[in-house]
Amino acid sequence: MVSAPRAVVIYSGGMDSYTVLHQALKEGFEVHALSFHYGQRHSRELDVARAVCESLGVAHEIVDIRAIHGLISNSALTNADQAMPKADYDEASMTSTVVPNRNMILLSLAIAKAVNIDADVCFYGAHGGDHVLYPDCRPEFVDKMNAVAAIANFSPIEIRAPFLHSRKDEILAAGIAMQLDYSQTWTCYEGRELACGECGSCRERLEAFASHGLSDPLGYEMPATAKGTDTL
Ligand SMILES: [Zn+2]
Repeated sequence: MVSAPRAVVIYSGGMDSYTVLHQALKEGFEVHALSFHYGQRHSRELDVARAVCESLGVAHEIVDIRAIHGLISNSALTNADQAMPKADYDEASMTSTVVPNRNMILLSLAIAKAVNIDADVCFYGAHGGDHVLYPDCRPEFVDKMNAVAAIANFSPIEIRAPFLHSRKDEILAAGIAMQLDYSQTWTCYEGRELACGECGSCRERLEAFASHGLSDPLGYEMPATAKGTDTL
């Protein structure tokens, strides 16, 4: 019997990488999911990622890279002293939530894992959108990282970002088509019991559900009537 090809999936526990994880499974890969503890302000999404992989029977590692926290601490996502922007994504709020060189660091480690287990492919959840894109979610970044991943080891590794050109609502549409349960994801930048509904990440997520006429199955601190693009 021919065994399934292996893939490493960078899986944060958020809705994009959750969809990517299922996309890789759908394509027939034996998936090895990697989550990274890089000093996020909270670990809600890591707990969610662990639970999802357990329920799917997918190999999963949470890689503790907090030792490098001092190198990447100048971000609202990794520094509790910085205020979390409560607004739609604009250039200023996006800049404050950029973790320095995050995707290059995480991809570098994921490529190492792929080489280590004889996988050919690394998946990650870069996506497009109408707002200013994070530099390490841009097609040219993926292209150039792919070129490096092809020659950095004796075995070439391919980086796939299946939603590179997709908006959030298009990723959600792909997930809905796969009948995914988005209550099993955590997107909020805050790590409280319920999602805040106010950070850029919550807002983008709520807009994606609203664009499909759906309500988000996740619990929010804001009253349900405040959901939707009209009040954001
Ligand atoms: Zn939030």
